[in-house]
Amino acid sequence: MDNPSRKNVAIVGAGIFGLSLALSLRKRGHDVTVFDQHRYDETSYHPSEAEPELVASVDHNKIFRASYGTKLHYQRLALESRKAWIRINKELQETSPGAEDLFVSCGMLRVQPTASLSALEQETLTNMTRDGLRDTQFVEGDSDDRERASERGWAAKLLDFAIPNDPDKRSFEAVLDSLAGFTRCYSGCAYFYHLAEQTGVAFKLGPEQGKFDCLVEEQAGSDKKAVGLKTKDGRVHKSDVVVIAAGSFSTQLLPDLSYHLESSAGSVATFKIEKGDTTLWDKYSPEKFPVITWKSTPRGKDGKDTGSVYVLPRTPEGLVKIGYRGVKFTNFQPAPEGTPFTQDSKWEFVSIFLPEFQDVPFYSTKLCWYTDSLDNSFLASPTIDYVPTYIGNSLFVCTGGSGHGAKFMPVLGEHAADIFENGDGSTTPMRPFWRWREDMPRRNGLQEGPDGPRNIGEKAAQG
Ligand SMILES: Cc1cc2nc3c(=O)[nH]c(=O)nc-3n(C[C@H](O)[C@H](O)[C@H](O)COP(=O)(O)OP(=O)(O)OC[C@H]3O[C@@H](n4cnc5c(N)ncnc54)[C@H](O)[C@@H]3O)c2cc1C
Repeated sequence: MDNPSRKNVAIVGAGIFGLSLALSLRKRGHDVTVFDQHRYDETSYHPSEAEPELVASVDHNKIFRASYGTKLHYQRLALESRKAWIRINKELQETSPGAEDLFVSCGMLRVQPTASLSALEQETLTNMTRDGLRDTQFVEGDSDDRERASERGWAAKLLDFAIPNDPDKRSFEAVLDSLAGFTRCYSGCAYFYHLAEQTGVAFKLGPEQGKFDCLVEEQAGSDKKAVGLKTKDGRVHKSDVVVIAAGSFSTQLLPDLSYHLESSAGSVATFKIEKGDTTLWDKYSPEKFPVITWKSTPRGKDGKDTGSVYVLPRTPEGLVKIGYRGVKFTNFQPAPEGTPFTQDSKWEFVSIFLPEFQDVPFYSTKLCWYTDSLDNSFLASPTIDYVPTYIGNSLFVCTGGSGHGAKFMPVLGEHAADIFENGDGSTTPMRPFWRWREDMPRRNGLQEGPDGPRNIGEKAAQG
């Protein structure tokens, strides 16, 4: 831990990004303090039913996938992370026998928009083939794949879903990905929190001593330098580097980030299965049911793949979570009373994929805040870099998970710490993608302004 360029680092945000970076920086010998407004030492990141936290990482589960279309660098990062999750599962079993795995390899069925493979799917399969992983993917319409699925014990999860009202009575094409599954998100955060604490990371938590109020800056001629931060209790905490890792709040804390990131709301809902309902309890268990994603519409003329809906197997509490990634809302004003949680009054998805729940009211619904980066493409990249408007590498940002960051928790910090220590000299393959990008055109829809289709206020007015 003897690092000649040892720094005193203050990280704002104890979500997945802040935790993962904190642990890696500490392991590299830096002195690290993490600030967060929430008392994770008391809640262990468990989501609150009564007052849901506006924190993407405080959730029951998140999808783990390595299928990334043409984005080979993310496919490889996901596979690196998968190995790390499996190692963590093993370590957990050794220290606490019987503990629940943090990564569950239940498989994921990628249901296609039609009876054929989509362009995105073909890109994914090409990249899986390139990395020698094609045998882990089972295409429903391919007899060799179905046979291999049977041999390897995956056949029962290669589910068949009929296309509604199809005159030819066809089914949606689907690909079962045996590398995929889900992570137990809040338990994973609690695990990393304890690991960080044991490794010597200090935590300041709560609405007073943990809540960031403002940066403490020094002026050097016309330049400014961050020299620490002030918390809500009025205390000043000096540091060599301040890191903003505050998820969807990051742009509020650091307005310089506004060009790069956008907070947008996606819809999440759950159904609840009671343990006594043994048929459903069993059917939707991770042992029997894969994660399912459905791209409800084919790739658009603009080359974009949108409209994805997904469901995860039930949690130990019996919650079946559905998420909708079609149009994400943008909020130009405080959300009015009665704002609908999604633009679709009833999801076709439920009737096709979860028929038992067709007439069942949702157990819970919420808007969950993504931190999207400026291109908002199928796979936007986070912003992980020094802020050029502050001199002396005094301000670093580590945020912009763009709806797919949770799966990388065990490895994200290492890649980010390499950028922290080496800047443009960093050798991580993620460096070309994880950077401050002044030169990127904005394509995330925010330029449409309040008249665009994503304005949540307009949706509320329409009822
Ligand atoms: C609906 C939804 C579904 C998703 N699904 C998946 C998925 O299936 N698979 C996947 O891999 N990823 C998924 N993601 C992405 C993943 O959840 C995020 O990338 C990740 O959780 C982001 O972590 P974070 O640390 O950047 O932000 P957050 O988890 O939001 O954490 C930010 C932290 O900053 C703190 N903070 C904010 N303001 C202050 C302040 N003023 N002072 C102190 N602390 C502050 C907050 O309290 C919070 O703890 C999803 C995200 C969303 C929103």
